[in-house]
Amino acid sequence: MGTSSKVSKLHFLLFLFMAHGHMIPTLDMAKLFATKGAKSTILTTPLNSKLFFEKPIKSFNQENPGLEDISIEILNFPCTELGLPEGCENSDFIFSSPDLAKGDLSQKFLLAMKYFEEPLEKVLETTKPDCLVGNMFFPWATKVAEKFGVPRLVFHGTGCFSICASHCIRLHKPYENVASSSELFVIPDLPGDIVITEEQVIEKEEESVMGKFMKGIRESERESFGVLVNSFYELEPAYSDFLKSFVAKRGWLIGPLSLGNRKFEEKAGRGKKASIDEHECLKWLDSKKCDSVVYLSFGTMSRFNNEQLTEIAAGLEMSGHDFVWVVNKNGSQGEKEEWLPEGFEEKTKGKGLIIRGWAPQVLILDHQALGGFVTHCGWNSLLEGVAAGLPMVTWPVGAEQFYNEKLVTQVLKTGVSVGVKKLMQVVGDFIRREKVERAVKEMMVGEERRKCAKELAKMAKNAVKEGGSSDIELNRLMEELKLVKLQKGKEK
Ligand code: UDP
Repeated sequence: MGTSSKVSKLHFLLFLFMAHGHMIPTLDMAKLFATKGAKSTILTTPLNSKLFFEKPIKSFNQENPGLEDISIEILNFPCTELGLPEGCENSDFIFSSPDLAKGDLSQKFLLAMKYFEEPLEKVLETTKPDCLVGNMFFPWATKVAEKFGVPRLVFHGTGCFSICASHCIRLHKPYENVASSSELFVIPDLPGDIVITEEQVIEKEEESVMGKFMKGIRESERESFGVLVNSFYELEPAYSDFLKSFVAKRGWLIGPLSLGNRKFEEKAGRGKKASIDEHECLKWLDSKKCDSVVYLSFGTMSRFNNEQLTEIAAGLEMSGHDFVWVVNKNGSQGEKEEWLPEGFEEKTKGKGLIIRGWAPQVLILDHQALGGFVTHCGWNSLLEGVAAGLPMVTWPVGAEQFYNEKLVTQVLKTGVSVGVKKLMQVVGDFIRREKVERAVKEMMVGEERRKCAKELAKMAKNAVKEGGSSDIELNRLMEELKLVKLQKGKEK
């Protein structure tokens, strides 16, 4: 018998970073904990609570009366006092702000997270959770949690492969031994002889403000209870083993978290309100053949200039495939949409759907008409694409996306690279229409790639089923946390 029967329910406090790529999986995680009989409290700011959490949490609690409630705890965030513009509570604000051109708003925002240290202490003191799941961008959270004897788990929001690749590059600095920044090198120690170039890695600036911040993150991770990863063992076994042996103190892979959303409303309600009627969108897809439609989305932060958007439009048309293309409103296109080639929408009528703003991504990816995904390789999108069994065109822009690309193209072999050379952080490196056309065509015809992708999707679904690898890891983690709780109770 496990410890479950002897200990009262676990209570998780989830302290998330305010960007969609972190907020969305955190909410999925809270739902997952609820299905395991645990209570979760999501710690967030007023605006984010109102915009992204209140509605889906209310629906979840109402629809699952037999499960423990998910609740919200609000922390104020005095933007102006912290030198940020009023209302700057999440990445949407930052990436649609003209200040971005000055280049420092997102860094300022990240560093302002330190403000939460004291409020977090108060919450821990009053709510007395059994575990704090704190985002990687709150490195001080490990010490704060320790003060109250609460185990702190780190949530990165990315997979094992990129965490390990980054670790090896930091350790060995292989880019110091190449003749040019575009020369390929093998990442030392990392299984699989993975190749990359200096201009695609992010670990070079150790002495910069951000470099030091990242160092703090790693230190706090080593001192924490361990790392929670939104991934599953079968996707990256070698890197999961590597992570647990050499990089993190401990690690638990509990994903894909998106697969917990089974109902239409849950899938449709992830993140922001969709800029298209979800039923209309599915009806459009219903009219298409199985595996025939290409979906293009570049996440919530990447931006392309008008010239690039024009090239994407032309490349898509040249590929001849049906498509759904999400154009992020944060892009630099003006009111007149000068980027759209004249007559494009008329010419591609019936063949293409452009969603300006927010797409119900998981609903779309899961539709049988979907045949391929052109992605910026943000981890959530990538994993959602894997769970949907789709081959991909990889188009990384910044952050750890180039590592994620290498996982897809060099390890899983389910992707075709569009050929981006250089990490740009927010505004994508330029790609010509011919390259878009070639990559899309290649992705859509590759039978072997499609077969591998479908196999992976099966494994993803099995991983989260009862007795699957992610289910087992989560059960193990919860048993351990219950033991800690039991021990604490005895010590009192
Ligand atoms: N997403 C969505 N609709 C959109 C754009 C994004 O539902 O129009 C979701 C997507 O499904 C994913 C998240 O937002 O869960 C984006 O996270 P990711 O890690 O892929 O990229 P980021 O935006 O962090 O670069």
